[in-house]
Amino acid sequence: PFDVLVVGGGPAGASAAIYAARKGIRTGIVAERFGGQILDTAAIENFISVNRTEGPKLAASLEEHVKDYKIDVMNLVRAKRLEKKDLIEIELENGAVLKSKSVILSTGARWRNIGVPGEAEFRNKGVAYCPHCDGPLFEGKDVAVVGGGNSGVEAAIDLAGIVNHVTVLEFNDELKADSVLQERLHSLPNVKVITNAQTKEITGTDNVNGITYIERESGEEKHIELAGVFVQIGLVPNTDWLGDSVERNKFGEILVDKRGATNVPGVFAAGDCTDSPFKQIIISMGAGATASLGAFDYLVRN
Ligand code: FAD
Repeated sequence: PFDVLVVGGGPAGASAAIYAARKGIRTGIVAERFGGQILDTAAIENFISVNRTEGPKLAASLEEHVKDYKIDVMNLVRAKRLEKKDLIEIELENGAVLKSKSVILSTGARWRNIGVPGEAEFRNKGVAYCPHCDGPLFEGKDVAVVGGGNSGVEAAIDLAGIVNHVTVLEFNDELKADSVLQERLHSLPNVKVITNAQTKEITGTDNVNGITYIERESGEEKHIELAGVFVQIGLVPNTDWLGDSVERNKFGEILVDKRGATNVPGVFAAGDCTDSPFKQIIISMGAGATASLGAFDYLVRN
């Protein structure tokens, strides 16, 4: 059996595996797609000490760093079941069952897409999902935020301090964000909120140049010229496969303590799949290190 089996090969998983391997214990990683979300990222400017890099380049560095150690990397395989017996069992979609004394879950998350024309085409060319990451790229420009929940309204407040103007498009007839956030939003001079707006298309040539929406009450089609669209309609953790085996919150995020431990002894978790309030590369890597040290401590004591 493994001492530490990491499920997920993004920044959190790579970090967890390296920390485990450096203890000289038997370490493996199972990943559906080694690299994770950063494979879909263009510019990264907030990975501290690296002024600017690109997602695929950072993913290649992760892989290289992992290969420096004796880590059994199983790429392009998906875990489908976790069961705690004497050891912890991870069943893969190909039918194999891996056994380990401890497991670190780092299966990440995915942004919910609107699913309209232009969204996929202009990804990283004006369509963005992370205001902390991509906000500064739109300095002085006009942008829209699609989604009027807490994350959408927080994004709009954040962006209003950087960009020229923000339009918030909400499908329902009112914003769903906490009232304190809404008050803050409404106090800003360069923000406009449009409710009852169904996004129809993100337009552009090389880059985004506008957004088309349907005014749901009148059925009329409207177009706004802008340079960027931030999609904020939810971040979904990749944790459905866990069922009831590990405690999760109502969003599906795995609950962890300060050592990355879940409610199941020997099972740890890190990164975007957990209830960590902020989802960033640098945070995921730190959480991976924490979970790995937590798992090592668990192994020493059991
Ligand atoms: P992920 O990167 O999501 O990795 C999850 C891993 O688990 C993957 O290997 C996946 O294939 C695997 N997996 C999932 N399910 C299973 C399963 N059942 N079995 C086996 N493996 C599985 N953050 C920044 O800090 N700066 C940025 O500039 C930035 N830009 C971003 C731009 C975009 C377009 C996106 C989408 C995200 C961006 N982020 C950025 C966020 C950042 O990418 C994430 O916070 C980070 O990747 C989370 O790392 P993670 O390891 O927790 O999860």
